[in-house]
Amino acid sequence: MAEKSIPAFVAYHKKNRRRLLKMDTVVHELHEEFSGKIDCLSCANCCRTLGPAIYDKDIERMAKALRIKPSEVVSSYLKIDEDGDYVFKTMPCPFLMPDNYCSIYEARPKACREYPHTDRKNFEQIYKLTVKNVTTCPIAYEVLSGLMKK
Ligand code: SF4
Ligand code: SF4
Repeated sequence: MAEKSIPAFVAYHKKNRRRLLKMDTVVHELHEEFSGKIDCLSCANCCRTLGPAIYDKDIERMAKALRIKPSEVVSSYLKIDEDGDYVFKTMPCPFLMPDNYCSIYEARPKACREYPHTDRKNFEQIYKLTVKNVTTCPIAYEVLSGLMKK
């Protein structure tokens, strides 16, 4: 995949609203296709290597699921990163189980639910993030590769 050509590709589509909408549609179709084909339970790269940003609502939900106080979630599992966000103290994620299941799946942070973000609207606003994610996530890789072939 020629990374350099992606900004040019997005810039070309940004010039025209119809082209932008079409790009979003193609990205979403590719997301659907490859989310269906790629088994996250055989991968779990994001849970092993990326620290999702964790917000107050995530902490409350996690605390409820774990039946502990929000302050205990913070003291036991979280630290503040260089951007001032809460992230997991340790990676791989402490909730990742040996079979790659998430032990707090229903209460997992929003960032975990949304990763790799390729079903979001306005791809032109997040393509840089997707470029970053191709080294971690096979879905992001396939979406971007597929898009560049169109
Ligand atoms: S890195 Fe991508 S393919 Fe792998 S588990 Fe995470 S979302 Fe699924
Ligand atoms: S909370 Fe669950 S989904 Fe999120 S990184 Fe940890 S194991 Fe993965």
